[in-house]
Amino acid sequence: MAKVVVLGAGISGHTAALYLKRSLKKDHEVIVVSPNSNYQWVPSNIWVGLGLMTPEQVKFKLAPIYKKNGIQYKQALAVSIHPEGNESHEKPFVKIKHVSEDQKDQEEEVEYDFLVNGTGPKLNFAATEGLGPDKFTNSVCTYDHAAHSWNNLELAFKKMEAGERQSFLVGTGHPMATCQGAAFEYILNIAFEVTKRKLNHLADMWWISNEYELGDFGMGGAYVKRGGYITPTKIFTESIFKEYGIRWIKRAGVTKIEKGIAHYENLEGEYLTKEFDFAMLIPGFAGAGMKAFDKNNDDITSKVFVANGMMKVDADYTPKPYEEWSAADWPSIYQNPDYDNMYASGIAFAPPHTMSKPMKSKNGTPITPTPPRTGMPSGVIGKIVAENVAHRIKTGKNEHPHKASMAKMGAACIVSAGYGIRQGQAAVMTVYPIVPDYDKYPKWGRDIKHTVGEVGLAGHWMKLFMHYMFLYKAKAKPLWWMIPE
Ligand SMILES: Cc1cc2nc3c(=O)[nH]c(=O)nc-3n(C[C@H](O)[C@H](O)[C@H](O)COP(=O)(O)OP(=O)(O)OC[C@H]3O[C@@H](n4cnc5c(N)ncnc54)[C@H](O)[C@@H]3O)c2cc1C
Repeated sequence: MAKVVVLGAGISGHTAALYLKRSLKKDHEVIVVSPNSNYQWVPSNIWVGLGLMTPEQVKFKLAPIYKKNGIQYKQALAVSIHPEGNESHEKPFVKIKHVSEDQKDQEEEVEYDFLVNGTGPKLNFAATEGLGPDKFTNSVCTYDHAAHSWNNLELAFKKMEAGERQSFLVGTGHPMATCQGAAFEYILNIAFEVTKRKLNHLADMWWISNEYELGDFGMGGAYVKRGGYITPTKIFTESIFKEYGIRWIKRAGVTKIEKGIAHYENLEGEYLTKEFDFAMLIPGFAGAGMKAFDKNNDDITSKVFVANGMMKVDADYTPKPYEEWSAADWPSIYQNPDYDNMYASGIAFAPPHTMSKPMKSKNGTPITPTPPRTGMPSGVIGKIVAENVAHRIKTGKNEHPHKASMAKMGAACIVSAGYGIRQGQAAVMTVYPIVPDYDKYPKWGRDIKHTVGEVGLAGHWMKLFMHYMFLYKAKAKPLWWMIPE
């Protein structure tokens, strides 16, 4: 009987665990280790951050779902990986620390035959002084953060209703932050709510971002087909911002926050500030911070993980100039190069480099978005990793029939503003492939037939529909596997 341990029960890890169990049935063990007893559908946290959904609507308890599906669940934090075992373990193992009330702080060593690391990002607020919900800015990265953000946003709305002017600042809170899409969606929604309350005359809406041009989204921007015309995402995004009355600061690396003041450096090397009453800024992402040790208990963390803690996989990490980047640099099976029974899926894997052209300020500070790893690729990667591991267990062969390179995979991004059936609209963008490939698509970097942008009510319905559909799937309800990632 093989034992597969999945670390993390987010979009990627949870998807992997469900597919693993579906394929391996009772013949093999699947164990999930994750500290939060809830699953959360992260994309809907935006609505929690606007008071339009409650945290209860975007989360559910994992334990009953795992019990029903024959998956073991340990509410714990993975602390270190020991891929060679050690003097007390013949097999590789993970050291975990329990966080549940009844087992709090107890350590356990869980052996595995295969390991799937789906620990997602560590929200690295500490990398920017003063950033985060415990300090001076808000976040919508978790349902707790989003609920807290709504409390502060509601306060700002109340002040405006009493005639007080408010300044909103939304975007990236670190020179190398990613996830611009989530911040973009949040600011559009704030603007929508301001208009709904007829408070536009009292609102200063500002976007701040490390993107060289608006619409970069960490994927080097894109050309999209819109109403028969080819439009750069720069124009697409700028026109949406104009329509919503949002002004912008681009090429800006936020380095420090004080109460009501964001300090940033721009590519010109200027050190500037922007005042705000309400700010929601996305932090830098890092890996979960696990360590790794060999059989002699020597630290091999730098062999298994890159410097920011994300796990090395089958990518080409050779440092090379932007001009030499290729689609082939991107991983396709997410297997660790040194330990072939270890995989990293979702945000936990280390990309080979950014997708956007790396930029530095005149003072040498890198100010560039890191690559986005949205829900769709995170889910797809979780699924193919599970299918490959199941294949290896069943056949005994180290082969990988399922591949999912982000340079060969498309993604859809729906940025919805407004809420309900009749109110609201969404900007829908599909890109194919996610990583631009100028060798294959020399003109636009992507297949222009499948790289499309539209704005309208239909996209907004899709976003609502996706909320219910993906929660249904994550709850492993009947025929869940027929719903695509
Ligand atoms: C506000 C917001 C809105 C978004 N909107 C969209 C959208 O509209 N569309 C879209 O496609 N994508 C969206 N995304 C991105 C999407 O949420 C991510 O791509 C996705 O969550 C990544 O999945 P993951 O499994 O890699 O990480 P996560 O979903 O973050 O899951 C990581 C899991 O690992 C667990 N974990 C952490 N540390 C440890 C540890 N040491 N040991 C064990 N477990 C650990 C965590 O508790 C969690 O369960 C959005 C993101 C944000 C923040």
